[in-house]
Amino acid sequence: MQDFDYVIIGGGCAGLSLAYSLEANGKLGSKSLAIIEPREKYERDKSWSFWKTFNHGFDDCVKKSWNQFEIKTKSGTKSHSTLRYPYQSIDSGLFYEKILNTLSKSPNIHFFKDDKGIEKKRSIVFNSVGNNLNYSGGLWQHFKGYEIEVDGHLFDDKILTLMDFNCDQKGSVHFFYILPFTSKTALIETTWISQMNDSSELDYDGQIHDYIKNVLKIVKYKINYSEIGKIPMFNSQITNSNNMIQIGTAGGMTRQSTGYTFTNIQKQSSYIQKNIYSIKKLREFSIKKKYQHLDNIFLRVLLNNPNKMPEVFYRMFGCKTEIIIKFLSEESSLIEDLSVIRSMPKKIFLSALIGK
Ligand SMILES: Cc1cc2nc3c(=O)[nH]c(=O)nc-3n(C[C@H](O)[C@H](O)[C@H](O)COP(=O)(O)OP(=O)(O)OC[C@H]3O[C@@H](n4cnc5c(N)ncnc54)[C@H](O)[C@@H]3O)c2cc1C
Repeated sequence: MQDFDYVIIGGGCAGLSLAYSLEANGKLGSKSLAIIEPREKYERDKSWSFWKTFNHGFDDCVKKSWNQFEIKTKSGTKSHSTLRYPYQSIDSGLFYEKILNTLSKSPNIHFFKDDKGIEKKRSIVFNSVGNNLNYSGGLWQHFKGYEIEVDGHLFDDKILTLMDFNCDQKGSVHFFYILPFTSKTALIETTWISQMNDSSELDYDGQIHDYIKNVLKIVKYKINYSEIGKIPMFNSQITNSNNMIQIGTAGGMTRQSTGYTFTNIQKQSSYIQKNIYSIKKLREFSIKKKYQHLDNIFLRVLLNNPNKMPEVFYRMFGCKTEIIIKFLSEESSLIEDLSVIRSMPKKIFLSALIGK
């Protein structure tokens, strides 16, 4: 059996971010690190997008940044523009390449396909593999996206569509998300927020083709890339112990109301790296309690009133651009929180608050 000072279970976004942060900040020194990751090869499998509200250190992996975004519902379109907080999309292929280039040069870091032969008793273990992330009763944000290419200059690549609710809701919450990378290429995602118990929601391919044809009015296109996923909108079971700390989605880094996780993973990695020598004694890094509380209310509203959600989002995005971005990125002040809360339809939120 081999002994390591640190073991990271899962070399995905959180595991690699943490390993990179430790290595790039000289925290490994004479310490050894094992990364357990079963995947055979790393290739682009996700687009991680978010508003850049702090310096995350991966600007060189950004495929595209936008200063304008919009929300479309039957009531109209809300358009926002910001120079301060651009919306960025990271290509996971570039991210893996950058990190693996650095990690492969370190004599302290070793990759394994499984944990056979690794003695973890004396190590600090960072675990990004959740034990309830296949739970079927909870709410999920589930989606599939195609990156398509067209012949003409059909996309306005200055504006991304965060949510377009002009599609069949099937009594659930359904919208399209469009990231126009150039005037000829865009990632088009069909996104549902539901308990995943209606199998017709899972006909993602049909939904995307219909939307491209009937809403975007594009007849001819080719698919260059696709991604599929589901993000839990419930708390993962966090079972930190004396020598095991959960990280990433399994460590509660997913913002429950939105699914945004990437920036929280970077904040968690930075926190662990800075405190690595005393990490066992410190409080774990978590999303601030006020956001967890507000998200619980929001998700109760969503569960009880799926048909009202286009209106809820439309009203929420009626707030000032920077306030809404800070709120969704966990950077808002109390006054800014109140301004978002005030924009919500009162009756359904009060019912959710008192548990009706
Ligand atoms: C398609 C997709 C798009 C997303 N887009 C965004 C976005 O735009 N913005 C955003 O903020 N968030 C986004 N997310 C959510 C979140 O950022 C990602 O899921 C992110 O990858 C979570 O990082 P993680 O390390 O927790 O999990 P992962 O990146 O999934 O890493 C877990 C790793 O564990 C490995 N593993 C599995 N089983 C074992 C085992 N038994 N032992 C060891 N290793 C194991 C897996 O192979 C994987 O590499 C997206 C998620 C998906 C799926």
